[in-house]
Amino acid sequence: IIVAEDVTKRFGTHQVLTRVSLPVMERDVVCIVGPSGSGKTTLLRCFALLEKPSEGRIVMQDTTISTPEPDRQTRAAARAVRSDIGMVFQHFNLWPHMSVLENLIEAPLRVKRMPRDEAVAVAEKLLAKVDLSDKRDAYPARLSGGQQQRVAIARALAMSPKVLLFDEATSALDPELRREVLMVMRQLAREGMTMLVVTHEMGFARHVGTRTVFMDRGEIVEAAPGAAFFDAPKTERAKRFLQQFE
Ligand code: ATP
Repeated sequence: IIVAEDVTKRFGTHQVLTRVSLPVMERDVVCIVGPSGSGKTTLLRCFALLEKPSEGRIVMQDTTISTPEPDRQTRAAARAVRSDIGMVFQHFNLWPHMSVLENLIEAPLRVKRMPRDEAVAVAEKLLAKVDLSDKRDAYPARLSGGQQQRVAIARALAMSPKVLLFDEATSALDPELRREVLMVMRQLAREGMTMLVVTHEMGFARHVGTRTVFMDRGEIVEAAPGAAFFDAPKTERAKRFLQQFE
């Protein structure tokens, strides 16, 4: 559904990604793991169209949506699919001056021009799904981190994305709060949501991921289905990385 093809990314002279190719198929839950600074977030941001590759491209459903120097056609294609790509950030990034409900309906109203009552109905359904119906009119500052992240997930879902990208969505949370967010993510996976997940949660990658991708120093070093990466890592680098979680 969305594919990175030979993506290289440099910030100045600092090369952060080196020829990364990663296809994400429908209903895939691809988990990207690897040491700090290995380029995971940068790769995700390329998929999210928040960074442009220095070389290579991002393709969605056979259409190029991102290149180093996008032409008019690519820019139009990117605009057309932007709302098909949802993103959940480490630090939630909710709008603080808006209630939970307003956070959820903002993009559907403005970007999709959805009628207000329809947007509210969708939002209420999603709040029920993340178990936060009672927080409909609360402001983000009054919510726990776990609740805020569940709102952020519901907000991303409100645009009916075809793929949902998670950037260390649980890293800023205490363990108990992490669990409630992971449960929501697991539920989405079960429902067949296509997900690309940068995570330090090895349990989630092992048990929920359909594929684990191990990155180190800007490269994909290994990729394996489901638990295979954890049960039988092939490279020394991966073995060393996994040791710290034993
Ligand atoms: P972590 O697990 O710690 O979040 P990561 O694997 O997600 O790490 P990235 O955040 O992608 O790694 O960063 C990879 C490298 O790119 C780092 O060395 C970082 O300093 C560098 N980098 C990221 N964004 C920028 C930027 N906007 N400008 C310059 N360098 C950057």
